Amino acid sequence: MAVPRNRTSNAKKNSRRSHHAKKPKNLSACAHCGRMRLPHRVCISCGHYDNRAIDAAQS
Ligand SMILES: [Zn+2]
Repeated sequence: MAVPRNRTSNAKKNSRRSHHAKKPKNLSACAHCGRMRLPHRVCISCGHYDNRAIDAAQS
């Protein structure tokens, strides 16, 4: 098994992890009830999507 020859420096390690920050979720307001919701998802408070009520039972 390959073993690293040199210890990775703190600067190299931190530089590699510079892209690991968590980005904030991009929420948008529901057009029907105004509550913040994820894009391309049915609103969790009123169940509307694209100004229509989505019924889970009718599939
Ligand atoms: Zn809604």
